[in-house]
Amino acid sequence: MENSVEQFLQISDFLEYIGPKCIGPAHEDLLKFKDTTPTFPFICSKAYADKIIQAQDPAPLLYQILPQLIENQDVPGFVDDPVGDLPAVEKAAPSLPFVLQKYTGRALVMTTSTCGLHCRFCFRRNYPYTPIPNIHTLLKDWLQDHSDIWEIILSGGDPLMLSQTKFEEVVKVIEECKSVSTLRIHTRLPIVRPDLIEKHLPTLSLIPQHLKAVMVIHANHPDELDQSSKKFFEQLRNQGWTLLNQSTLLHKVNDTPQTLAHLCRKLFDQGVLPYYLHQLDHAKGVAHFEVSDKLANQLIEEIRKVLPGYLVPKLVREIAGEPSKTPL
Ligand SMILES: *Cc1c(COP(=O)(O)O)cnc(C)c1O
Ligand code: SF4
Repeated sequence: MENSVEQFLQISDFLEYIGPKCIGPAHEDLLKFKDTTPTFPFICSKAYADKIIQAQDPAPLLYQILPQLIENQDVPGFVDDPVGDLPAVEKAAPSLPFVLQKYTGRALVMTTSTCGLHCRFCFRRNYPYTPIPNIHTLLKDWLQDHSDIWEIILSGGDPLMLSQTKFEEVVKVIEECKSVSTLRIHTRLPIVRPDLIEKHLPTLSLIPQHLKAVMVIHANHPDELDQSSKKFFEQLRNQGWTLLNQSTLLHKVNDTPQTLAHLCRKLFDQGVLPYYLHQLDHAKGVAHFEVSDKLANQLIEEIRKVLPGYLVPKLVREIAGEPSKTPL
């Protein structure tokens, strides 16, 4: 693989890159039961592969991206649209299948279906995206009819996967909308594709001059944070961004009090406050990541004992039809 290639689409290329030493005998099962032809395709960025190589224990990161045969098992209750996005879209804007308004005052915009890598636990892994070329003009019209919306959340996929021009167009529409005061971006890119973040820096740096700017990073494990994420977060904070983190609670990834406490402290060290710890959305193919509510609550109790209150994330689950995320 050449240095210029920033992502792996073939599992074999990826495994060759990280090398057999990295996987080691402790994680044989991960290799033995991998799925080489997954329905939700394999994508891993080079940056994330490097984090796997550098991790003390590669397993928590590997689990997040290496397809496993167990994903093909049908488990009752694990479905294609676990959080009721499709009916919500239908209600908010049937002609705009990328706007989701579930909660008062906030609307979520699915800007693109692409991501910096494919997380195996993804709740939108089976989501039927329709690509929309002129998203910014459609969004502009929709916002004119929805003056009750004061926060726009850019989601995806990953909104920072948009080209620089597209991203700028979307941001401009939001900045020009008088009723919107806050722009929030949910992204995993600072962790998985630092190379792609660079091109958005000029746009990102100006947003706090027009809007309250909030970035919610999706980090699940302390080994996902490194010097490059730290530098990026420092830049944003100096420009006036509020930085929060949302993690998904995942079996064999972050379901110990030590890992969670370490993650929360490392986030703070990088200028990011823990926001949500999400219970897994029950998408088809992700059941093996499930952590029970009982253990989830125990984990929060444990980390509350060793962390200041402001570093303890809120444990929540998304339940379709509820007026907010539901605290557990
Ligand atoms: C989670 C979510 C939000 C944001 O909820 P917060 O509790 O404000 O973080 C907004 N819209 C949709 C559709 C969501 O799923
Ligand atoms: S970055 Fe988010 S949307 Fe993309 S694959 Fe991962 S969990 Fe899914």
